[in-house]
Amino acid sequence: MTGMDANPSTEPSSTEHDEVARVSTDCVVVGGGPAGLMLALLLARRGVRVTVLERHGDFLRDFRGDTIHPSTQELLHELGLLERFLERPHADVPHVALRFSGRPLVLADFTRLPTRRKAIAFMPQWDFLDLLADAGRAHAAFELRMRTAGTALLRDGERIAGVRAEGPDGPVEIRAKLTVLADGRDSTLRAHAGLEPVGRRSAIDVLWFRLPREQGEEIPFMQAGDGALLTIPRGDFSQCAHIVRKGAWLGDTRSLEALRRRAGALAPILAERLEALRVEDVRVLDVRIEHLERWHRDGLLAIGDAAHAMSPAGGVGVNLAIQDAVAAANALAPGLAHARPTEALLQRIQRRRAWPARATQAFQRRLETVLVRLAEPGEPVPVPLPLRVVQHVPAIRHLTGRFVGLGLRPEHVRSE
Ligand SMILES: Cc1cc2nc3c(=O)[nH]c(=O)nc-3n(C[C@H](O)[C@H](O)[C@H](O)COP(=O)(O)OP(=O)(O)OC[C@H]3O[C@@H](n4cnc5c(N)ncnc54)[C@H](O)[C@@H]3O)c2cc1C
Repeated sequence: MTGMDANPSTEPSSTEHDEVARVSTDCVVVGGGPAGLMLALLLARRGVRVTVLERHGDFLRDFRGDTIHPSTQELLHELGLLERFLERPHADVPHVALRFSGRPLVLADFTRLPTRRKAIAFMPQWDFLDLLADAGRAHAAFELRMRTAGTALLRDGERIAGVRAEGPDGPVEIRAKLTVLADGRDSTLRAHAGLEPVGRRSAIDVLWFRLPREQGEEIPFMQAGDGALLTIPRGDFSQCAHIVRKGAWLGDTRSLEALRRRAGALAPILAERLEALRVEDVRVLDVRIEHLERWHRDGLLAIGDAAHAMSPAGGVGVNLAIQDAVAAANALAPGLAHARPTEALLQRIQRRRAWPARATQAFQRRLETVLVRLAEPGEPVPVPLPLRVVQHVPAIRHLTGRFVGLGLRPEHVRSE
């Protein structure tokens, strides 16, 4: 495997004196996550030559967003991909329901959304990314280079002119009219462009781990009270998330004991399975709510988590990343094959997408006050007043369903 899709749109070349391959394209995207692959697919289907760099060899990583919201499924329909999406293993969730201090609650209801699909689909992110990558490969203008990491930005004077990368065949310089950073919340190239995220550190971390799952077993999706535990069914195992105070997980047996105790109390059915969990099976998500004040430079645009790292609250990260990609593609596709985008155009993309991201982050910060209380061991947290109100007023559950399921300013795929 060369880590490269065959694609006539870029011509590798190198000289005898120089081991660096040099190629050029219209757009180079660093990061083959939801934002990067969706942007590349949308640009390629409109004839813009695009190269995506993904540093991993596959998409098989466990600890990533799994929720594909109705807004994203609507976009898949617009792209003619919804049926193929639904053929992949997934679980439909028409309501966000949880048990809070023993009380069943419904927080959001998607059943009245004005979309074809009225449920969140839980699908391992690798399946979703495989679908986008396969759909991209159907277009001659699409190139995906796996096992290729962007390492530095290329410049023409002040302008960002592409990316230097390390791939399976050695170093490569990819020159492009536009460089897109879709390299996630830990983007390293952001700093090379002088873009630094700002924001407050969250007071919580999330511990992720897998537990075996019995065939057909139904465990509540979310359980809260003295702690909080999320359980996502995935065939013969459950993907679990447990909230702790920031820094509480020390990666030792005491931390593991605390996890077993608290998660086991929330879900006694899992207690025995938790006993088999080892320290090295637990991954820590350092929760951050951050944003870039400026998403662009001359020749460069950041989207998705690279522009705004979201808290996992509400499971909206994938969907916001996708919305950024759609807005960017709608704005860029008409001209990018012929000319470099102006900074004014890049600024318009930021203006369109920054406020939905910031407003969603503001909501996540409010939610965090509850999550912080749940993270602290002690007395069970009583059901917060807003959650109690939601139970008594069904209209609010439809509104929260709209906010979570569609998001603010939902985007639509523009055709030629
Ligand atoms: C543990 C966890 C659980 C989550 N749960 C949910 C959830 O349930 N629902 C939800 O909606 N969101 C969730 N999120 C958030 C969600 O995964 C992200 O918001 C979403 O994936 C962002 O998409 P993205 O494309 O912007 O970035 P990412 O998905 O982070 O993709 C970035 C890609 O860039 C690649 N990359 C990074 N640097 C380089 C480089 N230099 N060169 C080449 N490639 C590079 C990475 O390998 C990665 O594939 C979760 C996140 C985590 C970490």
